[in-house]
This record gives sequence, C-alpha cells and structure tokens, in this order.
Amino acid sequence: MSAIHAIDLLVAHADWLITMDDGRRIYRDGAVAIRDGRIVDVGKSADLVPRYDARRTIDAAHHVVTPGLVDSHIHTAFHLSRGLADEVSSQKFLFERMYPYEGLLGEDESYWSAALCVLELLRNGVTTFVDPGNYLPHVSVRVAGEAGVRCVMSRSTLDVARSAFGKLPDAFMETTEQCLERSERFVQEWHGAFDGRVRAWFQFRGVNNATDALITGLKDLADRYGVGVQTHACFAKETMEASLSGHGVPEVERLARLGVLDRNVLLVHGGWFTPREVKLVVDADARVVCSPSSSMHNGYGTLALGKIPELLELGVTVGLGSDHASSGIVDLLQEMFLASAGYKETRLSSTVMPPERALEMATVNGARCALWDDEIGSLTTGRRADLVLFDTRRAQWQPLYNPVANLVYSANGASTDVVIVGGVVLVDQGRVLSMDEDRVYAEVSRLMPGILSKTGLAEKVRPRWPIL
Ligand SMILES: [Zn+2]
Repeated sequence: MSAIHAIDLLVAHADWLITMDDGRRIYRDGAVAIRDGRIVDVGKSADLVPRYDARRTIDAAHHVVTPGLVDSHIHTAFHLSRGLADEVSSQKFLFERMYPYEGLLGEDESYWSAALCVLELLRNGVTTFVDPGNYLPHVSVRVAGEAGVRCVMSRSTLDVARSAFGKLPDAFMETTEQCLERSERFVQEWHGAFDGRVRAWFQFRGVNNATDALITGLKDLADRYGVGVQTHACFAKETMEASLSGHGVPEVERLARLGVLDRNVLLVHGGWFTPREVKLVVDADARVVCSPSSSMHNGYGTLALGKIPELLELGVTVGLGSDHASSGIVDLLQEMFLASAGYKETRLSSTVMPPERALEMATVNGARCALWDDEIGSLTTGRRADLVLFDTRRAQWQPLYNPVANLVYSANGASTDVVIVGGVVLVDQGRVLSMDEDRVYAEVSRLMPGILSKTGLAEKVRPRWPIL
C-alpha cells in the first residue's frame, strides 16, 4: 500500500474536472490535491482520496471544475462608469463620457472602482486579470492584493495628445521622459508584490498616442525587467486610418517597423488587423486579446471584421477580455459565448469558433497572454492551485451532456460557487470571503452622485422613459 501524504486541501468528487492540460483531459469524478498553494496531484477521486490526508476536503459533487479564469483585459479603474457611456459614437464615448469620468478619479473613486471590479471578477470565476492600468495603478494593485487574486498591472502612458477622435485632455499628457521614468518606478515598486501575485508591466495607452521613442523605450524596459508591455491596437477603423495618415502604415506594421513586435507584447482588440498585420503577429508570436462585449457595445467591428478565428487557427495566442464595465458585461462566461456565437453569426458558420476554443482563450491562452503559463491556466501538477467550481444544480446547466458546451453556451458567472487562488478559498457558496461585499456596494452608492455631478452626465444617462 502506498504512503498517505498530508496535504492542505483536496477538491474531490468533481462531476466533471476540466483540466485544460496539454492533453485537454477531462475527469469524471475527478479530484485535485493541493499543498502549499500548488497542485500536487490531479486525477480520479478513487485514486486520490485514499492517497491523501487532507486538512480540508471540498466535495465537488454536482460541480464542473475548471482552472481559474483569466480576464486578459479589464480596466479596474473604469468600473464605476457602467451605464455612463451607452449609445454614443466612438468619439463621444471617449470625449464626452469616459475621459470626463477618468478625469475625476482620485484615490477614493479608484479604490472602490477597483473593489467593485475585483468583486465582480471573483464572483464570476476570474482568478487572474490583466489591467492596462491608469494613473493610480498602486490603488488597484492594493485592492487585488488584499482580495487574494492575481493580476498584471500597468501604469498608463500617453505622450501624443492627437488621436483619431480628437485631442486628448491635457491632464492625461506627460512627456516621454516622464512616462518612461514613472512607468519604470511603478514596475520597480510593485512587480512581485503580494507573494508574487502581482506582476507589474509597461503600457502605452494606444499605438497612435505614443511617440516612437516611448514605444521603443517601454519595450526596452520590459525586456530589461523580464515583463510585458501592453497596448490598445487596431480597435476601430479610425485608429487604423489615423496610423496610416500619421505614419504611412497601420498600427501593427508601425510596431514591426520599430522592431518591438514580440512575444511579450500584448495587443488588445486587434479587430482591424490587415492580412499583412496578421502575418506579422504570427511571426512575432505577439499576444492578442479579443474583447467581444466591448466591441459589440459600441459597434467597433471586432466580430464583424476581426480575424480572431484565423489568428487562433494560425496558432496565435488570443486571450479574452471584458475590457470595462461601461460596455456592461464583466463576466468571462458571457464573453466566451459572445466570442463563439459572435463569429458564427458574422461568418455564417456553425463551426468557426467551437466552445473548446473559447474556453482555451479564457484559460490557457489567458495565462500565455499574461506570460504566466508556467504557473497558471491549467490544472496540472506543479502549477499554482487556482480553481473554479461551478454549481450545476441550476436550470442553466441542465441537462449536462457536455460541460464545455454548457459552460460556453448556457451558463453565466452566477453559477460560480467556489473560487480558489493559490490554494486559498476566496469564494465559498458564491460569497466572496476576502472582501466586504455590502461595504463595496455602500461605497459605490456614496460615490455615484459625485460622479454624476462632476461629469455633468446626470441628465444624459437617466432612463429615457418617464420616472415617477
Ligand atoms: Zn481597454
């Protein structure tokens, strides 16, 4: 008889355990053994239960278990903008809604925005997120660190005021030197914080809003510190046209010309890649994030025109991002549905984006986008113990013939029952243990009147029907 090993936590009797390992194995009546925050064994409950003496056992009967989901693009600072930017043009979305909102963010607003965001992410099964950042990134880092999740965080930089949609507010602008110096300081200060759960990266807000010197300078810094650099790229027709008129080439071609296109570069959106840009992304092994709800909310064209299925077919790492609450959805299960169903609809094809692809985007691909795939993204021995248990005793999950199909096509984040990060249970029975949920909602209510008055949007965002 083999020895019995002491472990911290055993998740056992999972109805379906979707490992997302290299063989994409799925166990019926599966189990995961966890010690010191890492997975020490994965397999059938019949094999693991007698083998381990666990300090705590979680019975995962009636549950589908997956790796913790990775949201590859979410602005934690924008969470209090939900409902502030609907039915407006791209120009108005930015200049009349989002920039005024961003302009009012102090430590107080940023903290509770990030708290609401992390709360929603956790409740929807996200254990790691990539935030393109803002000007107070240390606030979001603190929230994520204290809540127990993993994140990649950047400090936002802009050194070109001219954009495809107008001139950006002066308050956001910095010199190239300031951008580089402040970004480097942020990475020095925060990379590896909270027991390594926080990774600090570099960022330029958009390709058109960065000088060549800033782009190459940030890439040099990212290489020096062994981290990534992220940017919004090719998200709308106007951004492509602005790059063509300003630089003679589309955005990704410009990055390639600058010699910065690389595997540690994360390109967010990519809805308007040209065929030549697709090839450049493939050759450079650059990473891409698809944000379906964000594009659909404003009609940017990622689903109608984007090359995401082709990029995936060509082996490009494409993650999934919910982008921001101002487009409504911050739920990767719904994003998976939108990515899959959206391309089927626009391509008139029932097979162009199967649910397996969508789940890969939200797990293993997300881990690769975050340059964290050696530690997270799949339930594999040696990896960090980040798991989600979805409760299938809900109508949306029944009948349950294929858990991957139900996860992508039928379920939403509300069926998240247990969330574990690094072996620590952060959500139990749908309740976030590491945050005071009632307090978060109370603080958000407190901040709402000030946000409406400071942005001057009270009349513009009220319901269009009579309020009695
Ligand atoms: Zn974004």
